Amino acid sequence: MKILVLNCGSSSVKYQLFDMEDESVLAKGLVERIGIDGSVLTHRPAGKEKLVRETEIPDHKVAIRLCLEALTDPDYGVIKDYSEIGAIGHRIVHGGTFPHSVLVDPSTKKAIGELEVLAPLHNGPALRGIEACEAILPGTPQVTAFDTAFHQGMPDYAYTYSLPYELCQKHLIRRYGAHGTSHQYVALRAAALVGKPLEELKVITCHLGNGSSITAIKNAKSYDTSMGFTPLAGLTMGTRCGDIDPAIVPFLMEKEGYTPAEMDQVMNRRSGVLGVSGISSDFRDIEAAMADGNDRARLAWEVFVHSAKKYIGAYAALLNGLDILVFTAGLGENSISAREAICRDMDFLGIKIDVEKNQVRGQEREITAAGARVRTFVIPTNEELMIARDTLSLVQA
Ligand code: AMP
Repeated sequence: MKILVLNCGSSSVKYQLFDMEDESVLAKGLVERIGIDGSVLTHRPAGKEKLVRETEIPDHKVAIRLCLEALTDPDYGVIKDYSEIGAIGHRIVHGGTFPHSVLVDPSTKKAIGELEVLAPLHNGPALRGIEACEAILPGTPQVTAFDTAFHQGMPDYAYTYSLPYELCQKHLIRRYGAHGTSHQYVALRAAALVGKPLEELKVITCHLGNGSSITAIKNAKSYDTSMGFTPLAGLTMGTRCGDIDPAIVPFLMEKEGYTPAEMDQVMNRRSGVLGVSGISSDFRDIEAAMADGNDRARLAWEVFVHSAKKYIGAYAALLNGLDILVFTAGLGENSISAREAICRDMDFLGIKIDVEKNQVRGQEREITAAGARVRTFVIPTNEELMIARDTLSLVQA
């Protein structure tokens, strides 16, 4: 079966078409600047030239139609007509308490719509993507895979905040986590690499990118994760502050006269390594500035590394030991120095990486030093494949 995986953002649609016979990617692409001047589709069919189409793309329906036209294009296409697409899988950022992927029906759509309040930038566009597919490909089964679903395995004491219980119930406040599909994918992949079932392993997965989260995995379930009610919690990120003393929020609002929306902007867009360094949210720029002797770049880097080490240590304690540590996502897969810095002086926990093996970018590799108790891996994440697998199994069932 051929499965189309869609990731609809507020002004973009990413897509991949899989042939599930061998899980190969037939084509992938990206529509950018939906509803903004300069809309463009970039389509990359396997083994062929890429296609770039600049045209007006006012909404998600037009965007998805363009993706489908590219997939069936006589020169750049990889299928003859739309009927070859057996099912569609959608990435949904916020799935509330959905514990796994589900087939789309009216109740799923209603639930995703209701969760828009928790992920205003993401769930709305995803819903529009589902409705566009219903209109363009009527009768094709659709599945939604939720970034939050894997973390629904957490015990209540890991997801409960120590705020008044009734207030949390009333406003659906709890830890939901994020990047769940990625954490689950790399954990399963690591288990396959060591040749043991994930159920028998204690694993910590570090999804480090522009947004970063770390997850403790026990019995093949998320046991705790660093992101919380929203993806603002946890580690220091590109522009997000991560964990701060909550008293800082009303303090700053009062001192600076910020509205709630302005305070949100400060924490989401002006903080993290960008906020500390004053240079950039991109860790490549931070590394370069640090090499030039910029002290605030050094400080931002060390704040980030310190936060990552703290979560790894805390989670090793929660798991009562550790078998596997995984690095994934933009920074985790590509930054040799981030992995080196995070794993430095962790031999007490059994973590030690090999300097030579760690010289790897964007490739799957074990980087464990000889004799280290914990096996450490770099594993490129593949959320789309995970979504395609879930879609296939639900449609076949
Ligand atoms: P992601 O959000 O997973 O796409 O990750 C994007 C981030 O990964 C960028 O903002 C960079 O900070 C980081 N990154 C990507 N490539 C490299 C690299 N070669 N070295 C250091 N950091 C990188």
